[in-house]
Amino acid sequence: MKPLVEVLLATTEFFRGRGIPSARLDAELLIGHALGLDRVRVYLNFDRPMRDEELEPIRALVRRRGNREPLAWIVGKKEFYGRDFAVGPGVLVPRPDTETLIEALLPLLGDADPLFVADVGSGTGCIGLTLAMEKPGLRLFAIDKGEAPLAFTKQNVEALGLKERVAVLRGELLDAVPPSRPLDWIVSNPPYIPSGELAGLESEVRDHEPRLALDGGADGLEVYRRLVPAACTRARVGVAFEVGSGQAPAVAEMVAKAGLTPTIHKDLGGIERVVIGQKEPAAG
Ligand code: GLN
Repeated sequence: MKPLVEVLLATTEFFRGRGIPSARLDAELLIGHALGLDRVRVYLNFDRPMRDEELEPIRALVRRRGNREPLAWIVGKKEFYGRDFAVGPGVLVPRPDTETLIEALLPLLGDADPLFVADVGSGTGCIGLTLAMEKPGLRLFAIDKGEAPLAFTKQNVEALGLKERVAVLRGELLDAVPPSRPLDWIVSNPPYIPSGELAGLESEVRDHEPRLALDGGADGLEVYRRLVPAACTRARVGVAFEVGSGQAPAVAEMVAKAGLTPTIHKDLGGIERVVIGQKEPAAG
């Protein structure tokens, strides 16, 4: 038997050796997760003796994190815009930067009921489902072409109680939504990392998170070239896209070429992160 604090320190050291920048925090979160304790309780239980049967499951989790699996996959959830989303192997972990899209778009959506929205490449569903939670009249098509993302989207639809207002569809871009179905807004966080830059990313992203959600082709813009014209033609009101660093002007130009009025929105780090296009020019 060892006290919890010893397990914590040993885990922290192990994580440091594996090059994990937030070693101590991750050790606290993982051990807390295994024992059902929040971080404060981990601290309050430093002296608690740990039995071998308790250590076994912790070791399995620590080994996974030591292999640089994303922490959120191991604990099975990630907070996005104040709500927990189920995540795990096979799906991109929601990023705080993506909340920029939510914040920029919400004031433009209005309160129409019904308001039809499609989220292309839904992943966990964090974008579309957050919009649906914030707008009670919103009906969502959550679309992905990956099996794992679709399973997580469905799980999150259930957990958020959105089954009545969300259809989860498998397909390429917008193909799965029949042309007869009106779409007011189309939103997407498509893969936008230039293929050649993937190898330089941290191991959690490079070796674990799905290529499908990351690889944007040679210059990172390949999916936008297909998605932006299709979405701009199809959307009755507007479109909203997350973009990678430095890509906003190019995507805004695609939006303008399609006849919509683009605006660019920065994330908290000051990076141009979101391009919104509207059919009617904004007043003022
Ligand atoms: N924001 C993600 C990253 O930087 C990329 C997501 C994407 O390609 N859409 O890892």
